[in-house]
Amino acid sequence: FGLAASYTDSSDDEVSPREKQQTNSKGSSNFCVKNIKQAEFGRREIEIAEQDMSALISLRKRAQGEKPLAGAKIVGCTHITAQTAVSGCLSGGPGCRWSACNIYSTQNEVAAALAEAGVAVFAWKGESEDDFWWCIDRCVNVDGWQANMILDDGGDLTHWVYKKYPSVFKKIRGIVEESVTGVHRLYQLSKAGKLCVPAMNVNDSVTKQKFDNLYCCRESILDGLKRTTDVMFGGKQVVVCGYGEVGKGCCAALKALGAIVYVTEIDPICALQACMDGFRVVKLSEVIRQVDVVITCTGNKNVVTREHLDRMKNSCIVCNMGHSNTEIDVTSLRMPELTWERVRSQVDHVIWPDGKRVVLLAEGRLLNLSCSTVPTFVLSITATTQALALIELYNAPEGRYKQDVYLLPKKMDEYVASLHLPSFDAHLTELTDDQAKYLGLNKNGPFKPNYY
Ligand code: NAD
Repeated sequence: FGLAASYTDSSDDEVSPREKQQTNSKGSSNFCVKNIKQAEFGRREIEIAEQDMSALISLRKRAQGEKPLAGAKIVGCTHITAQTAVSGCLSGGPGCRWSACNIYSTQNEVAAALAEAGVAVFAWKGESEDDFWWCIDRCVNVDGWQANMILDDGGDLTHWVYKKYPSVFKKIRGIVEESVTGVHRLYQLSKAGKLCVPAMNVNDSVTKQKFDNLYCCRESILDGLKRTTDVMFGGKQVVVCGYGEVGKGCCAALKALGAIVYVTEIDPICALQACMDGFRVVKLSEVIRQVDVVITCTGNKNVVTREHLDRMKNSCIVCNMGHSNTEIDVTSLRMPELTWERVRSQVDHVIWPDGKRVVLLAEGRLLNLSCSTVPTFVLSITATTQALALIELYNAPEGRYKQDVYLLPKKMDEYVASLHLPSFDAHLTELTDDQAKYLGLNKNGPFKPNYY
C-alpha cells in the first residue's frame, strides 16, 4: 500500500535476525541485520542518497586525504538510513559499531549494505524493546574492542554505557549527541556532576535546529500521514502539540494544504509565534472532541493522555513527531476493555467498547522516520554538522573541552551552511573592508554571535 520500496520487507521470513546465521561475502559475521542478501539494493539506496549530499561527499573527500578520524573507534546509535550511512562512511566505516536509535526507522537493505562493507551494524526494522537493548549491548560489549567516541541520537546508548559499562568512559574522548531528548539527558548529567567526558550538543547547532527539525518535518509530516492513512487534509481540523521547530514545520505544511490547524503550547513565546503565524492557540482539552488529527511534537511526556484519547471522535488519527514514544500515553491503551486491530503496517485501530476507533500510527513512535522517508538534503546538513563535531572532539587538544556539554563553534555552523550553498547555485555577498569594520566583523566570519 504505497510504502516506498525501501520499506517493504514482506518477502522476508519472520525469523528474528538474532536467530539467523549470516555472513557477508568476506566471511564476516560481525553484524546482525534482517537479510544480508539485500546489500546490493542497499548500496544503490546509499548511492541515490549521495547524489543529494554533495557537501558531505566533499567533506568525505577531504577527510580521505587528511584522515581526521584515523584511529577513531566510534560506537554509534543513530537512525540507520541511506543518509546516515553516507555520513557513517565518513565517520570511520569499518572499525565502528552501529545500532539503531529507533526500532522502526532502520532501512534493512541499508543495514545489509553497511554489513557487507564491513561495518559492525546491529539493527533491523521492527526490533522488539529487548532487541533494541541487545543491539546496543552488542555494540558496546565486545571482546578486544573498545570505543573511543560515542555518537548518539536520543541518549539511549550513552545511558546504557553509564548503566552497564561505566569503565568504557576511561577511553572515550567525547560524546556527540544529536537529539533534543539526548541533549536534555546530557545537561542533567552535567548538572549532577556525573558527566565524565566532553559532549557536543549537535541538536542546538543552528544548522541542525533550523534545518533538520523545521524543514525535514515540514516535508515529511504529510508524507507519513498520507502513506499510512490516505487522509485528505483540506478542511480537516488538526491540533499540533508544541510549536517549537518541529511543530512549526508540521503546522506550515498542514496549513498549506488547507487544514484548520490548532496549536497547544506551554511557552508564551512560542504560543505568541503561533498566534502571529495565524494559528489558534488552545488547550488540548478544548478541541479534542472535534479534531480529526492529533500530532505531538513537544519532546515531553504524557501530552496526550488516556482521558484525551477517550474523548476523541471516531476515526481520529493520533501520531507523534517527537523523538520518544512518551508523548502519547500508549500504555494506557493496552487495557482489556480496548481492542487493537492492526490494519496496515504501522497502523493500529484501537477500538472502544462502543465501537469508536482511534487510528494510532507507529504505536506513538516518531511518524516520519517510522512510516515515510525523509528528505536527504536536510539530513546532509545535519550529518555534516555531526561529522564536524566528531572531528572537533576527537582531535581537540587536551584541555580544550572539559567534562561539560558544548555547542559547535559558530564558525563551523557557517562552514556547514557554506558547503551546501553550491547546490542552489547561491552566490554569497562578501563584506567590503569598510563594511566589515563598520559591523565589527571579521570578513570571513563568524557573522553572528553564538546565541543567534
Ligand atoms: P523545541 O524545544 O523547539 O519544541 C518543543 C516545544 O514543545 C517547545 O516550544 C515547548 O514549549 C513545547 N512543549 C513542551 N511541553 C509541552 C506540552 N505539554 N504541551 C504543549 N507544548 C509543549 O523542540 P523541537 O526541535 O521542535 O523538537 C521536538 C521533538 O521532536 C524532540 O523530541 C525532538 O527530538 C524531535 N525531533 C523530531 C524530528 C523528526 O524528524 N520527527 C526532527 C527533529 C527533532
